[in-house]
Amino acid sequence: MPTLLKFLLVCLLLATAGSVQAQTPTAPSPAPATAQPAYDVNAATQAYLNTLTPAQKARSDAYFEGGYWLLLVEMLYAVGVAAVFLGLGLSRRIKAWTERLPQRFLRTLAYVAIYLLLAWVLSFPLTVYVGYFREHHYGLSNQSFGEWLGESLTSLALSVVFGSLLILALYAAVRRAGRTWWVWGAGIMGTFVAVGIFLGPVFISPLFNKSTPLPAGPVRAAILSMARANGVPADNVYLVDASRQSKRISANVSGIGSTIRVSLNDNLLRRCTPQEVQAVMGHELGHYVLNHIYELLLSFVMVIGTGFWLLDWMFVRLVARFGSRWGVADRADVGGLPLAVALLAVLTFLSTPIVNTIVRTNELEADVFGLNAARQPDGFAAIAMKLSEYRKIDPTPLEEALFFDHPSGHTRVYTAMRWKAEHLGDK
Ligand SMILES: [Zn+2]
Repeated sequence: MPTLLKFLLVCLLLATAGSVQAQTPTAPSPAPATAQPAYDVNAATQAYLNTLTPAQKARSDAYFEGGYWLLLVEMLYAVGVAAVFLGLGLSRRIKAWTERLPQRFLRTLAYVAIYLLLAWVLSFPLTVYVGYFREHHYGLSNQSFGEWLGESLTSLALSVVFGSLLILALYAAVRRAGRTWWVWGAGIMGTFVAVGIFLGPVFISPLFNKSTPLPAGPVRAAILSMARANGVPADNVYLVDASRQSKRISANVSGIGSTIRVSLNDNLLRRCTPQEVQAVMGHELGHYVLNHIYELLLSFVMVIGTGFWLLDWMFVRLVARFGSRWGVADRADVGGLPLAVALLAVLTFLSTPIVNTIVRTNELEADVFGLNAARQPDGFAAIAMKLSEYRKIDPTPLEEALFFDHPSGHTRVYTAMRWKAEHLGDK
């Protein structure tokens, strides 16, 4: 997927994940006064980690560590795509075609739409490797090539329509505000993403998956009881048929205002015990109750504002030097879009540890909330182990800080076992 489109989708997905240490919910947890047998948290953690066979661990590490390199490869690939547009003259030709249109906003819109389509085509080899072949190689996908391609084309259509409108709005800001466009740009991005999150569960997700109210039964009763205890409306809990795409277990919080909801997927329901499902749903209720969507949206606006400011700084210097060779006049010239996208790809690559840490902090908060809400430390630890299918279980602290947007399995199991040790005497 071309970098810009992927960036937009990631922005939307980020908002379905989950920020600030100060809000960490802490249940009052006085150490039990009664004498407890000594509980070795580290030994209990290691016992869970040992349930993974060396072969399973090697496979999980290989999949996840490959993702580190993909960050670099995708950034370099995006720079390569920009080189095709600018260095080989593709951009000049698109501009020549669109120049015949009568109004400037039509010329801009046409250039952007053609650019998005061609960038998708040029990026297809990498997209198909990452999204289809690699997922199948690791046994993580349930989709045939046709199904996968159909979904990719749906994403492309969405991105061309909404991406063109977004970029048109950004160029309007550049042309009106000049060098301070990045302030307006951050506001436009924030508004666009907020609308996207609002519409997401109602208009975007249904294009890919079906979501239905959770079927009646003991699992539903336990989840709804936990939802009520934490002030989450019961009619906001949904079941999603994610097994159409993969066997990954997952759940999330999505939407804003009237569309906000907690969803769990059918893989989770089928592959996990009721205790494990409760542990996951306690975590998701944490995202909901702690307003993580709103917090992430605010963080996103600050990150993108800084990113746009840096992008402008680099863009102006590069265009002063190479502008005539690339056919780019100034920042208001839409022919500079491939360069702007390449610079955004570089900045996105460099900001990976910052964005990961913002998201991972929220996730840790939701973990702690979930342990207090569901009181299923072993269920939570078992889930953390199951997630090793696609997330390295035991990274170094530096690796976790740089590359993890969720706490590692080790961190999660340890957090759960420490909770268990400190609450063994509670009832
Ligand atoms: Zn989460």
